Parts: sequence; C-alpha cells; structure tokens
Amino acid sequence: MKLFPKLALAVSALLLATTLCLCTAFYVTQQHAIEQQADLERRAVLQNLVHITQESFLTNDDLLLIKYTGWLQKWIPGLVSASVTAPSGDVLAHSEPTRIGKNAALQESSPTEVLVLSEPVRMGSHWIGNASAGFSQRYYADLIHVRLRHLQKRLLEIAGGALAVGVLLSFGLALSWTKPVGLLAAAANRIGQGKYDFDLALIERRTDELGFLSKAFENMAAQLRELEQMKEDFVSAVTHELRSPLGAIESYLNLIGTEMHEGIPAEVWATYLERLRLNTQRLTRFVNDLLDVAALERGKITLSQQPVNLGILAQDVLAFFEPRMREKNLRSEVQLGNLRSLGFGDPDKIRQVLVNLLSNAIKFTPETGLIQILMKEIPAQHVICVSVKDSGIGISEADQMKIFSKFEQVNSARQSIKGPKGTGLGLSISRALVELHGGAMGVESKEGEGSRFYFTLPIYVTARESMAITATKH
Ligand code: ADP
Repeated sequence: MKLFPKLALAVSALLLATTLCLCTAFYVTQQHAIEQQADLERRAVLQNLVHITQESFLTNDDLLLIKYTGWLQKWIPGLVSASVTAPSGDVLAHSEPTRIGKNAALQESSPTEVLVLSEPVRMGSHWIGNASAGFSQRYYADLIHVRLRHLQKRLLEIAGGALAVGVLLSFGLALSWTKPVGLLAAAANRIGQGKYDFDLALIERRTDELGFLSKAFENMAAQLRELEQMKEDFVSAVTHELRSPLGAIESYLNLIGTEMHEGIPAEVWATYLERLRLNTQRLTRFVNDLLDVAALERGKITLSQQPVNLGILAQDVLAFFEPRMREKNLRSEVQLGNLRSLGFGDPDKIRQVLVNLLSNAIKFTPETGLIQILMKEIPAQHVICVSVKDSGIGISEADQMKIFSKFEQVNSARQSIKGPKGTGLGLSISRALVELHGGAMGVESKEGEGSRFYFTLPIYVTARESMAITATKH
C-alpha cells in the first residue's frame, strides 16, 4: 500500500475514534444532566407550592392556596395532582376540589405511575402542614426521551460534519506530506541518472522539516552538479594538456627518426631539441600543478616559514621572466613603496605565487605593455600587500568571480593568446598557498585597461616586537 492512502486512512481512523470517544463521553454526561434537570423542575414546582402555602397561612387566605393548586394542575404539564394537608391530615387545598376538607389518610393512594414528592411546610419552627405534588412518570420518561433524541440528533450532525471536515483535512495533510516525498524521490532518481533539471521550489518554501530536507537536497544536488562539472572540466583539461605536448613530442621524435639517415643540420637539431624540451616542461608543469592541487586539497602541503625579503624575491622573479618580456617588448618595474619590513612565509611557495601572477600578466598583456610589481606595508594589519599590475586585456566583473576556481579560464582571453593556453589551475593554487600563509588574494580589473592581482602576507616580527605588540593590545 502506498504512503498516501496509508497516511490518509490512519489519520481518518484516528479522527473517527477520537470523535466517537468524545461524543460518547458528552452523551453520557448530558443524559445525566437532562435527568437532573427534570428532577429540578419537579422540585421547583413543589417549592413554589410550599411558598404559596406559607403566604396563604400568613395572609390567612385559604382561597389563594386552593386556586393555586388548581392553577398548577392546569398549567404545569406532567403534574397529576397538587395538594396541601394540615398537620391533622385534613386536606387544605387540592387540585381536585372534591378532596378538600377530607382526611388525606382515608383517601385512596396514588397510582404507581405517579411520582409523589412531599415536603413539610414550616413557619419558623412551627409545622403548618405538608405540600405534595404528584408527577406523571410516563410524562417525564417521554420528556427525557425526547430531549435525549434531540441531543443525539445534534451530536450526530456535529460529529458527522467534524468527521467529514476531518477526513478532508487528513487527505489534504497526507497529500501535503506525501507529495513532497514523491517529488524528492523523483529528483533523487533524476540525479541518479545524472540529470539535474528538477524543480523543488514548491517544497523549499515550506518552513517544516520537509522544507529543510529539500533545501539540503538542492545543496547536495548543486554540489554534485559542481563535482560533475569539475570532473568534465578536469577530464577535458587533462586530455587537452596531456594530448597536445605528447602529440608534439611524438611528431618531433618521428621527424628525427625519418630525417636522421639524411643527416640533420646542427641548427635544426637545436630547434627540435628545444621544442622537445619545451613540451616536456609543459607536461611536467601540468603534472606538478595537478599534484599541488591534490596536495592542497588534502591539506598535505606544509610551509617552511622564515623571514623573506619580498623586494629581492620580486626582482629575482622578474629577472627570470626578462627574456620572455623582451620577446614581447614589455616594460617592467618593481616599486617597493613604504616597504621596510620582511615578510614571513615559505620563500618557495611565495615565489610560485609570484611566478604564476607574472606569467599570467605577461601572457595577457599585448606588446609594449607595462608590468609592475608593487609593494605596500600595512602596519595596522601587520601585513605586506604585493600586487602584480599589468596593462593587459583585463577581466570582466563576472569572470573575476570565477577565475580563482579550478580549471576556470576566460574563453575570450584563451583565444587571444598565442602558444600554450594554460590549464586554469595557477590562480586556484596561488590563492590556496596565500591562504595557507594566513593571507588573502584578490583582483581588480577593467576590461581593455589591465588587471591588478594582489595578495597579502604577514610581516615578520621579532620576538621582542611580538611582545611589544601583545603589550599594546592589552
Ligand atoms: P591559466 O593561466 O593557466 O589559464 P590561471 O588560474 O592562472 O590559469 O588563470 C585563470 C584565467 O584567469 C586565465 O585563463 C585568464 O583567462 C584569466 N587571467 C589570469 N590572469 C590574467 C591577467 N593578468 N589578465 C587577464 N586575464 C587573466
């Protein structure tokens, strides 16, 4: 049996049982109340007779009492007889006038179907007689029966209505629980098939556990989608980055193989070997990048931090790129600004970051452009900010968000460059390395005007300075 009918039937059965219990309990208490009410009504009639008897005694008006007993029988339904007897037993007043003046003890007793209620009438401590009222048992049994029938009818109507509304609500409730479960199951199925085109917006709006579940489900799907995308990017990047240098190496080896017998001139050898070297380098770099990403993700990279002269390091990296910059006729400069302190970090890793930023700057800056490395010390934050600024093609705002993710490359930028296109791993590795140092990395850029990539590193503080800083903080 499916969850929906199961749930709907269970809730309806529960509702039916509750309604039955409530109705039975209510009926029993009401039945008791109706019987009590009939008794109270009879006692009220007798009480009135007692009062009128006392009044007629005070005013010495026997006629009032006689009239009242007659009136009672006429107007009180179910009253068979009403009488007042003196202490001697003589009837003072009776609803049947023929009995007045006779002795009550000598008169025939009331039939069994008549319920007789009597009460002594007193004036202070003086007993002046007895008041009695006879009521038809059948009349009151019928009256109670009619009232109970009326109650049953009302109860049936109310319970029926409540039950109908309850059953409708229980179906609605069951539907509102089982439908989202069905949607989630269908969505899970689609994810299983590698499809992410499902819509859980309807459930997400809910503020109960099902809403939370669907949000968690959406998050999970988004992460899976991202993973899937990453896997695809990874496979295509790896395929491309492995295939093209390997293809080039294979072609040059084939060329060397065929041309060897004919004798290859020395300068051609040099070209072939340089191409082989460049492609092998490209392969090595890519494999190293992949290994770096994996190590960073598993937290396997450890830093060997020490004081670093960032100015010297920057000059050094710039010198390494000098030949490439000359090839493109690019100008370069290092500005140390207010830099007085040493940075604190792993020199190899900082070099790796600078190499990546500079190689990007050179790659994406057209000929005769300017590339600058700018330093700025920010004492208040105890950091040094290093920027690599270029006058290159720039990056759109939307792309600035993406380029720090793995394998992300801007398509238009990729088309605009000659030679190796890169892998889209450099910035993600750089950012992770900077963050490992406790710093941050970012970019400011305008399309067509250039970019400034910057990162911060902690300032090296000696033990004495560190104590002084702690003291000023306290
Ligand atoms: P790679 O350079 O190997 O493609 P990166 O992660 O270093 O990978 O860079 C990612 C992308 O960011 C580049 O493909 C390029 O589109 C963009 N980018 C990086 N640096 C610059 C820059 N200085 N100017 C313009 N675009 C840049």
